[in-house]
Amino acid sequence: MQSSSPPATSLEACPLCNSGGAVEVLDFARVPVFANVLFDTQSDALAAPHGRMDLVVCTCCGIIYNRSVDSTLLAYSPAYENSLHHSAVFEEFATGVAERLVSTYGLASRDVVEIGPGNGDFLTMMVNAGVARGIGYDPSHNPDTAVLTDGVMIHAELYPDTLPVGAGAVTSRHVLEHLDSPAVLLEVIRSSLTDDDDAVVYLEVPDATYMIESVALWDVIYEHLTYTREATLNWACERAGLTVVASGRAFGGQYLWNESKAGTPKHDLEPPDPSPFVAASVEFGAVVEKMISDWSSKLEELSDDGAVAVWGAGSKGTSFLSMVPAAATVDSVVDVNPGKKGRFVPGSGHEICAPGDLADRDIAHVVVMNPIYRDEIAAELAGLGMTPGVHSM
Ligand SMILES: [Zn+2]
Repeated sequence: MQSSSPPATSLEACPLCNSGGAVEVLDFARVPVFANVLFDTQSDALAAPHGRMDLVVCTCCGIIYNRSVDSTLLAYSPAYENSLHHSAVFEEFATGVAERLVSTYGLASRDVVEIGPGNGDFLTMMVNAGVARGIGYDPSHNPDTAVLTDGVMIHAELYPDTLPVGAGAVTSRHVLEHLDSPAVLLEVIRSSLTDDDDAVVYLEVPDATYMIESVALWDVIYEHLTYTREATLNWACERAGLTVVASGRAFGGQYLWNESKAGTPKHDLEPPDPSPFVAASVEFGAVVEKMISDWSSKLEELSDDGAVAVWGAGSKGTSFLSMVPAAATVDSVVDVNPGKKGRFVPGSGHEICAPGDLADRDIAHVVVMNPIYRDEIAAELAGLGMTPGVHSM
C-alpha cells in the first residue's frame, strides 16, 4: 500500500512572497488527497488519489506550504463536498459572523458577494441577517442539485473582474488555503474594487498558529496548500492594496479572519518578522514526528494484545490510518454514522462498520479519534457488553 509514490515535484519558491528560503516542517510520503471522501469498494479506496505532504515554512513571510503539492490532483468538481455546516456549533459561529458584518458595515438591504460559497449556507445567513441579495461565484457549483434560499444566487464561474454594482461586501471563507497562489486572489479582489469603494472584504481561513500551538496534526490535510498566521495574512492583504481594518481569531482560536477596505497596493512592504513562528513550526514538526512514532509503537503493543478498532471514520481517522505506519495492524474501523457503514477508508482500505458489529469481533482495544466522545463511546461499548481498553488521541 505504501509502495508507489506520486511523481516528485517541488515548488521552487514561496507561493505567497516568492522567496526561495524555506525550512522543513513535516513530510509524509503518501496521504489521501481527499480525506473526507469514502469509497464503495475496497479496490477504489486503495486506489484513491494520494499525494506527498511536504510542509515547509517560508523564512521570509512565515507562511507554511506544501512544497510538493500536485495541484492537478485537486481538480474540484460539483462532486466535491466540503461543507462544514453540519455542526450546530459551526452554524452558530457563522451566523454570528454574518450578523456582525451586517451591523458593523451597514449591509442591510445591500448585496454581498461570496467567492467560493459552496452550497450557499453563508449567503443564506447573510440574507437572513438582512442583506438584499447574496451572490456567489463558484466553479464547483452545480445548479442542477443546489437548493438555494430566496435572495441567494450562485454563478458556476470564477469571480468577475469588477464587483457587481452596489455590493457592500466581498466575503471568502476557507478558500485561500485551497489555492496554489493565494496572492493572486487577493489581487483579483482588490482590482475588482474601485479606489473609493466602500465595500468591506471579509476573509476567513484556518489559523496556522492554532495548528502549531495545539499540535493539530489531524487537521493537516492535503487539500490545504497553505497555512497562514494572522500577521502574514494581514501583510499579504496590505501588499495587495487591501487596508486591514480589523482582524482576529475565532471559533476557539481555530480560524483567523480579517476585514479590509480598498487601499493602495504596497508592493515593497516587508513581511512581518517570521522568526519566532518559523522556530515554532520546526518544533511542531519534531513533536509530530514523535507523536506518530509513539502511536505506531502503541498500536503494535495493543495489537499484540488483541484486535484493535479505530473509532471515527472522518478526516481525523483517515489521516491517522494513513500517517501512522503500524495502522495496518488495525482490525476494525467504526463510525456511528449509519451512512458510512460498508464503505471504505481511502488509503488504508478499511471497511467501516457500525458500533454494533464490534461485539462479534473480540475487540481488545478501541482507539478514539476525537477525545470529546471518549466517555460516550465507553458507555456505548459497555451497553454492547464489551469492556475493551479505550484509548484516545
Ligand atoms: Zn513566503
